[in-house]
Amino acid sequence: MRVTSNLDDVRVCPDCDQINWVNDRASSRCQRCGHFLGGHTLSVSHTIALIIAALILLIPATEMTFVGYSVSGQGQQMTLLDSSRKLAAFHEQWLAIVVLLSVVVLPALFLLASATILMWRERVNYRFGRWLVRAIKYIRVWMMADVFLIGALISFIKLAGYATIEFGYGVVAFAGFVSLLLLVVERMKRHPLWPADEEASNYRNMVGQSAHEHHVVGCPVCYAANQPTHAECWRCHEPLWTARLGRTSLTFALLLAAALMLIPAQLLPIMETVALGSAQPQTIVGGVLSLWQSGDIPIAIIVFVASLVIPIAKILILATLAILAQQDTSKRPKSALWLYRVTDWIGRWSMIDIFVVAVLVALVRNGALMSVYPGHAAIAFASTVILTMLAAMSFDTRQFWARKPTE
Ligand SMILES: [Zn+2]
Ligand SMILES: [Zn+2]
Repeated sequence: MRVTSNLDDVRVCPDCDQINWVNDRASSRCQRCGHFLGGHTLSVSHTIALIIAALILLIPATEMTFVGYSVSGQGQQMTLLDSSRKLAAFHEQWLAIVVLLSVVVLPALFLLASATILMWRERVNYRFGRWLVRAIKYIRVWMMADVFLIGALISFIKLAGYATIEFGYGVVAFAGFVSLLLLVVERMKRHPLWPADEEASNYRNMVGQSAHEHHVVGCPVCYAANQPTHAECWRCHEPLWTARLGRTSLTFALLLAAALMLIPAQLLPIMETVALGSAQPQTIVGGVLSLWQSGDIPIAIIVFVASLVIPIAKILILATLAILAQQDTSKRPKSALWLYRVTDWIGRWSMIDIFVVAVLVALVRNGALMSVYPGHAAIAFASTVILTMLAAMSFDTRQFWARKPTE
């Protein structure tokens, strides 16, 4: 096992494939594209304290009343878990699972895994420790507690026009949980979790050049330099098939599936409001229009951008980038990478409308007066968001710098 306490290390940038020389004491970025490659030493005990505080807050956030609403004396309360439970009760089990996983389960697992890694840091050499460090990198992408919080706020504003809204302690605890979770995510990116490569000096003369030109394969998880014959990374055991260049066909397939799911997502009703016995199905665009007409113009714009503009723009931009990446030379690789990063970052915010529906379905059950039910567009739309996220993940930005074989 090539492990050393030496702080100098070689890291292959996962975004542009450049070989970088870094020192774990200093926060370092890729010289070519600015990708964050490793942070300076932070206080481990501070991070553990934040994790424990976040986990403690999760208990009142899920157990206590999230919000209550009442119209003419009749009211209803919900907890955070009701947003998932009620979807399941109305036969939207898949959507219920997506909400439960992305809002509660994955963030909790992320925090528990992070605490385990930090508390038993010297054991990271063992296979389980390395598996955990790899796992948190993948879990992080799918956590959406912050998006849920914004979605919940939007649904409260939607309701405030014709009902009295009362915030419970649950929503306060959840807001605290989300803030602490975001802090922990940032700190976990900065903690040095991998031992340096003691053969790093072998790569010293390649610094500043692309790894594939020297037949070196960069690990997408720990950024270690690997020989092309390696089936898995020597340092973190990540299978290296994910690190090979060029998987554009997978990106195109996922984008096509996302575009197809967008059709039922926009045509079918995303929710159905039953008021005084009469049912009113509402599509995504219909919801935006009714918000606009009731004067909630900023909210109408947010929902319109999140549910319509972002998914369509994301599919078009990723498809364009994938076509560009296949061409002989990308003229402006840095601009292409910047566009990719913005698209990738913004994509998850499309889930806002799904969470608005989840909260409304859980909260608005006023019997004879008014009730909200989930529509079939919701699962179709959630699939679009998930498929575009997978497409972005499958996209290999190193292709912008890769020299294509001449025909
Ligand atoms: Zn880079
Ligand atoms: Zn690795």
